[in-house]
Amino acid sequence: MTRPALQWRGLAVVWLALGALLAALLLLDRNETLARERQHLVQQVGIVHDNLVRHITSIDAVLERLAGEPLPQPLDAGARQRINARLHVFSEALQGVRTLSVLDADGTIIASDRAELIGHNVAYRDYYRAARAAPSADTLVLGKPFRAVLDGGWYLMAGRIRPGPGGGFGGVVLATLDPAQFLTLLESVRYAPDMRVGLTHGEGVRFLLSSEHPVAPGTDLSHPQTLFSRHVASGQRQSLLRGPAVDGEGTAAYLAALRTIQPPELHMDTPLVASAAREWSAVLSPWRTKVWLAVAAQLLLGAAACGALYLLQRRQRELRQHQRALAHREQQLEARWRAALQATSLGIWEWHGEGSPTHFSPSWKAMLGYADEEIDDQDHGWQQRLHPDEREQVLALLARHLRGETPLYETTHRIRCKDGSYRWVQARGRVLQRDAEGRPLHFVGSFGDLAEHGEDRIRLDRLAGQVPGMLYQYQVEPDGSSRFPYVSAGVQGIYGFAPEELRDDASPVFQRIHPDDLLRVNRSIEAALRTLQPWHDEYRVRLPERGERWLSGQAQPQLLDGGAVLWHGYLHDVTEAKQQALQLQETERLLKHLMNEMPIGLCMVDEDGRIYFRNRRFLEYFGYTEAQAPTLHEWALHAYPDPQYRAQIAQQWRQALQQAHASGGDIPVHEYRTTAASGVQRTMAIGGLVFGAHFLATFVDRTKQQAQSELLHKLAYMDSLTGVANRRHFDQTLQAEWRRCRRSRQPLALIMVDIDHFKQFNDLYGHQAGDACLRAVAGALRAALARSHDLAARYGGEEFVCLLPECDLAGARAKAQALCEAVQALGITHGGSSVAGVVTVSAGVASEVPGEDGTPEALLARADAHLYRAKAAGRNRVDDGTGSLSNQ
Ligand code: GH3
Ligand code: MG
Ligand code: MG
Repeated sequence: MTRPALQWRGLAVVWLALGALLAALLLLDRNETLARERQHLVQQVGIVHDNLVRHITSIDAVLERLAGEPLPQPLDAGARQRINARLHVFSEALQGVRTLSVLDADGTIIASDRAELIGHNVAYRDYYRAARAAPSADTLVLGKPFRAVLDGGWYLMAGRIRPGPGGGFGGVVLATLDPAQFLTLLESVRYAPDMRVGLTHGEGVRFLLSSEHPVAPGTDLSHPQTLFSRHVASGQRQSLLRGPAVDGEGTAAYLAALRTIQPPELHMDTPLVASAAREWSAVLSPWRTKVWLAVAAQLLLGAAACGALYLLQRRQRELRQHQRALAHREQQLEARWRAALQATSLGIWEWHGEGSPTHFSPSWKAMLGYADEEIDDQDHGWQQRLHPDEREQVLALLARHLRGETPLYETTHRIRCKDGSYRWVQARGRVLQRDAEGRPLHFVGSFGDLAEHGEDRIRLDRLAGQVPGMLYQYQVEPDGSSRFPYVSAGVQGIYGFAPEELRDDASPVFQRIHPDDLLRVNRSIEAALRTLQPWHDEYRVRLPERGERWLSGQAQPQLLDGGAVLWHGYLHDVTEAKQQALQLQETERLLKHLMNEMPIGLCMVDEDGRIYFRNRRFLEYFGYTEAQAPTLHEWALHAYPDPQYRAQIAQQWRQALQQAHASGGDIPVHEYRTTAASGVQRTMAIGGLVFGAHFLATFVDRTKQQAQSELLHKLAYMDSLTGVANRRHFDQTLQAEWRRCRRSRQPLALIMVDIDHFKQFNDLYGHQAGDACLRAVAGALRAALARSHDLAARYGGEEFVCLLPECDLAGARAKAQALCEAVQALGITHGGSSVAGVVTVSAGVASEVPGEDGTPEALLARADAHLYRAKAAGRNRVDDGTGSLSNQ
C-alpha cells in the first residue's frame, strides 16, 4: 500500500511539472506575440518610408526644374504674373504641396502662387539659412519645421538653390509641404488604437504624429534617451527599439520601428525619420490575459487534485480499519471455536488447505485406541481408515462441503481402530476461512463416538438416506412455537434447508409453502390435530433453486405429556406425477369436448354394457337418453324393435367385436337399420374402437347415401323410355340365369319381340306417337309376365326380349302367343299395317337346358332367327323353330 506522504509528494511533483510546462508554453507564446508585433511595425514603417520617398522625389523634380529656369528680365508686372500663374499650376498638380514660392538672393519672395506672400522677406527663417549653407545646387534643403503664426500648424519647407549670375547663390525655390496630406498617409498604416505613427525632422522636431489621442506635434525628441535619438545614434537605416517615446519620467514605454528617410539620389541635407510605435503594455495585454487564465487553471487543478487525493486517502483509511476489525473478529471467533472444541471429549481435526497435512487431537487418537505418540499428529492417511462401504459416500460429502455447496460437513461412518475393528463415529466439520476464489484455507471438525449419540439415530439416518423425500419429527409446543427435533438429510431437496437449520425453529419451512396453499395446509394440520387422525395433504412449495414443486405429505400426530404435539411424518416430491395427472385431466377434457362436437355419433360402453358417454350427435340421431336406455342392451331393444332383425344384428356385432379384439382394436364398419326414439328409420354405418374391456362406437348416417345409390343402380339398369329393363340389365341377367339354370338343369327360354311395320307407324303418326306406342307395348309385355323371375327388356329400337327361366319351349311358345295377343288387345290404331288395323308384334322363341356346349349368345341368336321367320311368314305371329303360329 502506498504511504500517504508519498502520494502527496507525487501529486506536488506532477503539479509543479505541469506548471513548468505551462510557463514554458506561455514564454514561447510571448516571444511569438512580440515577434509578430515587430514584424507588423517594420512593415508599416516601410510603407510610410516608400510613400514619402515617392512624394518627395516628385516634389524635388519640380523644384529642380523651377530652380533651373532663369527669371525673365526685366521682371515687370506682366512677367511676374506669368511666373505666379506657372507656380500655381505646379502647386496644384503636386500632391502634398501647399505653396510654391521663389526667393531672391536676399531672402525676399519675388514670386509665389499666393500673391499675398510676394514682397515678404524670410531671410530670418531657418530654411533660408539652411539653403544659403547648402553645399551644392543638387541639395534638397529641408529646413527645420516651424509653426505658422496664422493657423498654428507645423510646416516643413523643401527648397532648391537657384544659381545666380556668375554661378553664385541666386535665391531659392521653395515648396511648403501640406501636413494634412502626410497625416493621412500616417493614419492609413495604423492598425491598433494605441498605435502612434510619427514623422520627425533630422534635428529632432517631431512635426507630424498620428494617434488616437491628439498629442501636440512639434515635440523636441533630441534628448539622448528618446527612441529617436537612440535610432539616430545607432547609425542604422532601420531600428526596432523599446523605451519611452519622449523624454521624461512616467512616460509609457513603447515598442517602436524607426526608419530613416534619406535616399542618396535626393541629396537631402537633413534626413526625416518615420516611426511606428505601440505601447508595450497594450501589445502584451492579450498574452497577459492568457497568463492569468493559465495560472487560475493550474491553481484550480491543484485544488481539485488535493481534494480527490484527500477523499481517496480517507476511504483507504476506513477500509483498513474495517479489515482490521474483521480480522480481529475472525481471530476471536476462531479462538472461541478452538476453546469450545477443546472442552469436549470429541476428537478434533484441523486442516490448513491444499497440500497441508491434517492435525488430529490426542482425544481422536484415544478414540481409535492409540496412545498419543503412537501416530503422528499430522496424519496423511486417515482416509485409509474409512470403512470401504462408506468411503465413497464420505469423501463425496466432504468434497461437496469443501466446494462450498453445503453449509456443514456432517455424516456418520465407520473407522478402523488400532485393533482392526470398526467403530461408528459421527463426523462434523465446517470451513472457517476461504480465499478469494472460495478455496478452503482453514477447515476444522470433530469426530464423536456414536456410542454417546445412540446407534438408533445412525441407523435411522442411514435408512432415511435410502428413501426418496424426507422423514421427520415435527414438534409443536403449547405456546405455538415449533421445531424439527429430527429431520433426515432429504429435507435439503424437499424444502431447501439443511437439517440443522430447522432443528430449533420450523417456521422457515412455512415461508416456502405456496401462499395459495398455505391456508389449506394449516387447516388440514389443525383438522388432523383435533381428531388425532393421520394427516395427509398435497401442496406446492417455492424453492430458491428448484422453483415450484409439489409435495405429498403424511404424518401421525402424537400428544405428549406436557401438552406438546409430536408429528411423525414423511414428505416426498410428487411434482412429476402431479404434472402428469394435471396434463391427463386437461387432455381428457379436451378429448371430451372434441368428441362432443364431432359430426358423427359417438358413445362409449364399459365392461358391464353401460353407456357412460354419448355425444351430442348420438343423441340427435337416436334420442335415447341415459334415463331411457342406460345400457347397450336396453338401447338395442329400442333401436332394433324387430326381434328377428335384432337377433341377427346382435350376432353380427359380436363377431365385429371379436374381430376388433383380434386385430388391435378397430371394430369393422357395417351398415345397420336403426330406429330412433322419434320413430325415424336410418341406415347407420356403425364401427368403432375397443380399448380394454370398453369400446367406443361410431355412428355415421348412411340413409341418404343408400337411397341415392339404390336410385342410381335402378337408373343404370332401366330403359328410360319404356321403364322396362335395359339391354345391359338383360345381358347380365341372361348370363346369371344361364349359370343358375345350368346348375339346376332347368331350361331357360327367350322370346324376341318386334313391332310390325313400325316404320310406317312412325311415318303415319309421328315419332312421339311412336314413343307412346313403344311404352304401351312394353307395359303390355311386363304385365303379361307374371312370374317374379321373368324379365321383360327393351333390346333396341322397337325390339323387346323376354327372359323366362325354368321354362321349356312349349311354355315359352304359349307365353309368346299370350304376349302377341296382349299387344293386339291394346288396340292401337295402325293405318299403315298390312297385318291388322291395329299395332301387332311378331315373336321368335327359343329354349334349352344350358349345357357344356351351348352359350347364351347362341340361344339369343336362335330366338332372333325364329323372329325373322315369323316376320317372313306374315307377321303378327309366333315362331319357335318348328313353325310359325299365326295370331289370327
Ligand atoms: P317389320 O314389320 O318388318 O318389323 O317392319 P318395321 O317397319 O317394323 O321394321 P324396320 O326395322 O324397317 O323399322 C323399325 C322402325 O322402328 C324404324 C324406326 O323408325 C322405328 N323406331 C326404332 N326405335 C324407335 C323409337 O325409340 N321410337 C320411335 N318412335 N320409333 C322407333
Ligand atoms: Mg325391327
Ligand atoms: Mg318391326
